[in-house]
Amino acid sequence: MPPRLQVDRLTRRFDGAPVVDDVSFQVEPGQVACLLGPSGCGKSTTLRIIAGVDMQDSGRILVDGQLICDTDFRIPPERRAIGLMFQDFALFPHLPVRDNVAFGLPGGFKANRDRVGDLLERVQMTRHVDSYPHQLSGGEQQRVALARALAPRPRILLMDEPFSGLDERLRDGIRDETLALLKDEGTAVLLVTHEPQEAMRMADQILLMRRGRIVQQGAPYNLYNAPVDRQAAGFFSDIN
Ligand code: ADP
Ligand code: MG
Repeated sequence: MPPRLQVDRLTRRFDGAPVVDDVSFQVEPGQVACLLGPSGCGKSTTLRIIAGVDMQDSGRILVDGQLICDTDFRIPPERRAIGLMFQDFALFPHLPVRDNVAFGLPGGFKANRDRVGDLLERVQMTRHVDSYPHQLSGGEQQRVALARALAPRPRILLMDEPFSGLDERLRDGIRDETLALLKDEGTAVLLVTHEPQEAMRMADQILLMRRGRIVQQGAPYNLYNAPVDRQAAGFFSDIN
């Protein structure tokens, strides 16, 4: 079976300087991979290229063995079956929760009551099915955003610092609940974070990024126990 996501020698330059520099990695079906690195190292740019809202200068991306973009070919974002979840939850303010979750589904809520109902139950938001986003807390909006991203069963879900806007007291709980749901759904995930603790907690595979390059990749345990250099060791050392 081909990997769910294969990123091959991806490079993106801004004003001549590479911000994503010859990046290669794979995510297997059902796997949660974390792109981990300090602010400005090129994580979001990598995600945006995979999503199809930015373009690489070189390299290619395949999903389930199928080419989705290289330098002369590009499947548009809406036809990639790639889900997206960003830090600002970006729910549609004029739509109730049920229509937000059903947004990407043909036929909307009416045609997808069961799927929407299941997901809202899984994120413990059943009682808010008719609420509007402004009536929800940040954590609740995040749950709805997760349900919405998963509703169309994307081949891969891209999450860019999805928990960083949340109250610290809620974060661990929501991380665990999110991970449980992702595993139940069997969704392959590429999650961007600058927090080693989050990557250690959630990842099957960590891709450690620095100044546009992946400097080490592997299971969390391996990176923690055998960091590639002093800087990587320092990055993991403040995890309790
Ligand atoms: P991260 O998500 O890891 O914080 P980004 O991918 O957002 O990093 O950005 C990586 C680098 O690329 C940063 O130095 C940023 O300033 C630069 N950058 C991002 N987008 C653009 C752009 N559209 N034009 C110019 N520079 C950009
Ligand atoms: Mg970013």
